[in-house]
Amino acid sequence: MKFQVPRGTQDILPEAIGNWQALEARAREVSERHGYKEIRTPIFEATELFLRGVGETTDIVTKEMYTFADKKGRSLTLRPEGTAGVMRALVEHGVAQAGRMHRLWYVGPMFRYDRPQAGRYRQFHQWGAECVGSANPNADVEIILLLVDFLASFGLEKTEVKLNSVGHPGCRPAYAEKLRAYLAPFKDALCADCKERFEKNPLRILDCKVPHDKAVAQGIPSILDSLCDECRTHFDGVRAGLDALGVPYTLDPKLVRGLDYYTKTAFEVHDTARGAQSALGGGGRYDGLIADVGGPQVPGVGFSAGIERILMALEEQGKLPVAEAPLVFVARAGGDAVEKHALALVRALRKELAVTFDFESGKSLGAQLKHADRLGAQVAVLLGEDELAAREATVKDLKTGTQEKVPIADLAAHLRGRLAPKDAR
Ligand code: AMP
Repeated sequence: MKFQVPRGTQDILPEAIGNWQALEARAREVSERHGYKEIRTPIFEATELFLRGVGETTDIVTKEMYTFADKKGRSLTLRPEGTAGVMRALVEHGVAQAGRMHRLWYVGPMFRYDRPQAGRYRQFHQWGAECVGSANPNADVEIILLLVDFLASFGLEKTEVKLNSVGHPGCRPAYAEKLRAYLAPFKDALCADCKERFEKNPLRILDCKVPHDKAVAQGIPSILDSLCDECRTHFDGVRAGLDALGVPYTLDPKLVRGLDYYTKTAFEVHDTARGAQSALGGGGRYDGLIADVGGPQVPGVGFSAGIERILMALEEQGKLPVAEAPLVFVARAGGDAVEKHALALVRALRKELAVTFDFESGKSLGAQLKHADRLGAQVAVLLGEDELAAREATVKDLKTGTQEKVPIADLAAHLRGRLAPKDAR
């Protein structure tokens, strides 16, 4: 019997984990620098939360949820996205209150039963941030910048910000009517899903992937011409904020996103070097979501970004590896005294550096250095009888082969300095 990972999932092996860890570490660092705090919520939630939050006419809810009954018959769903759970937590803990700000971030796996292909998985990972409690357009700008500056920190240049406003429940029905009027002559040729969307939620037709329906959507009236004064003023405020900071963006009136909770601002950041699965991340404002999941009327704006997609873009744009974690290898040659000192040295250095060594004593230095090479170590610390007598160690750069003697007392500081990332942010 041979087992394989379930379709649409993947193992992240030690060879690849460095990039994942570097990306997650950067996400944490950039989030915290913007004043965002981490929140962790369960990987499964009551199914009803996603029906209410994400929206009953979305593809995510109608086709893509991993829903199951637990042993007591409760309907639970593996989270297809992070925002609904975070809002549920704020409401449940009584901290979603008008006028109270929350800046939160998360990272973790999400689950969608979608057709797997390059850049699209059934278990994928998102980093996301939510700015809750402000209706100010500057909150939207902060959220967009958080994602844009994160991507820029890797030197990713081939990216484009797409921006739209999807209105709010006050002005959207009038636009939905305009859309129905425009689409009515094409209705019979639309796919079965879009025929249903036409009745229930015609904006969802703009998100249809069927080529014929996509072509029909090309000519639709722009939602930006149907915004009410409030939504128009908000959108102008977001644009002015981005313009003032010189952040380029493209207006895309067809950008509606795959979740129903968005109001006003919707945005995505795309990898312009890719045709398919080019969205690296996206988000928008969700002023009604907290009320929809049982809380007070509190506004919010957020985004989520796909870790797999960002790694793919980094690879394709030649930006990998992301700052490899430097590894030190301690090699030793000599009797019991050297062995004892070497093991103590490994333990001491491990307090601040990644350090490894060969368990077998008595191997030649050459064999040990070969082992170091296989592990990808950058530096070896060599300890022998002579070094021990002089209270020194030989530090060998495994890339260039150069070596120097360093007093053991200064070793940790020396290695730290030598291995510090050149590109410290
Ligand atoms: P969404 O939650 O649909 O707005 O998606 C936000 C981001 O998550 C997208 O821009 C992608 O980068 C990523 N993403 C969404 N769905 C998938 C998937 N099935 N596989 C991999 N990444 C995904």
